[in-house]
Amino acid sequence: MFGPMNERATRIPVAEPALTDRELELVSECVRTGWISSGGKYHDEFEARWAAYCGRKYGVAMSSGTAALEAAVQALGLGPGDEVVMPTFTIISCASAVAAVGARPVLVDADPETWTMSPELVAEKVSPGTRAIMPVHIYGHPVDMDPVLAIAKHHGLFVIEDAAEAHGAEYKSRRCGSFGELSCFSFYANKIVTTGEGGMVVTDDERLAARLRGVRNLFFKVPRFHHDELGHNFRMTNPQAALGVAQLERIDAIVEKKRAIGAHYLARLADQPKLELPVERAWAKNVYWMFGVVLRDEARIDAAELATRLARSGVETRPFFLGMHAQPALQSRGWFAGESYPVADRLARLGLYLPSGIGLSSAEIDRVCDALDEALA
Ligand SMILES: *Cc1c(COP(=O)(O)O)cnc(C)c1O
Repeated sequence: MFGPMNERATRIPVAEPALTDRELELVSECVRTGWISSGGKYHDEFEARWAAYCGRKYGVAMSSGTAALEAAVQALGLGPGDEVVMPTFTIISCASAVAAVGARPVLVDADPETWTMSPELVAEKVSPGTRAIMPVHIYGHPVDMDPVLAIAKHHGLFVIEDAAEAHGAEYKSRRCGSFGELSCFSFYANKIVTTGEGGMVVTDDERLAARLRGVRNLFFKVPRFHHDELGHNFRMTNPQAALGVAQLERIDAIVEKKRAIGAHYLARLADQPKLELPVERAWAKNVYWMFGVVLRDEARIDAAELATRLARSGVETRPFFLGMHAQPALQSRGWFAGESYPVADRLARLGLYLPSGIGLSSAEIDRVCDALDEALA
């Protein structure tokens, strides 16, 4: 595998892409043949193969996961006056995609153990303005989808699944990315399959797939330079897609390695009394995109202090998400005033994630755990 391996002796990175000769071979072919824009065989092959991996009919590649979410919201025709129910404990991309079309995010607190949107809190957030629900699988653990799908069906709502952190994860033996009208992925450099920057929307709906292609490519149509709607340039390049194709060839091994890293951490940290560890519900296959830990109150420090201590031992970490309700950019629109999300607040204060890249060795995982024990002693 390629990468800045020589740094690892002193610092264990939180994530790094694990690229091989196969990526080099396919990208080189793009360069040699001149197929470096969004035209080219790997672009179309990656769309078809990723959609098939998710059990979907159509894949529409995008320039990022954020672009995928924005395109999904626009393709469904959401706009001013519309509301989308989503977790507060997520990345800003979910809320910004909704805000971009003039619609409004409506927030749901997290489940304290899976850290995903708590399904029993969704129904009370549905109003006459609600048009869609956006479940987000967090750090590799799926959302409890059946109740979400039931509420959506009952109220006639779209489901936009954000599976950016859940490549290969399963809910009741069905892959994440196969639920709802549209499912969005990111292939950013720290994601389980990466194209450097990139994303995709997958769907079974031919009409929506056509709309997504329109949004992606400025709604160009025949005759040329006529536009009935405004879109974006959200195109993915052929060399990016070539990276994706190379990794799809070994995705089972990649997902297995992620799960092995998760299992190693879980076994090694099981007796650490000051940490809550990730769970795997009976109906879930967790892919441990990032291995998160949450400090218990008896640790008497917060995640920022733990991160500082771990950094001193050469262990890189990242803080958990700060809830959407706590984001000045969203509060300034007059949203979420007086609302409270105690679980998300606790996760933001006490949660962080540990090195989780598939290049991690067993010895490095043990080093991380030793550093944790020392930091919490
Ligand atoms: C990474 C991520 C995104 C955004 O993807 P980018 O490719 O970085 O734009 C969206 N949603 C979730 C849940 C993510 O983890």
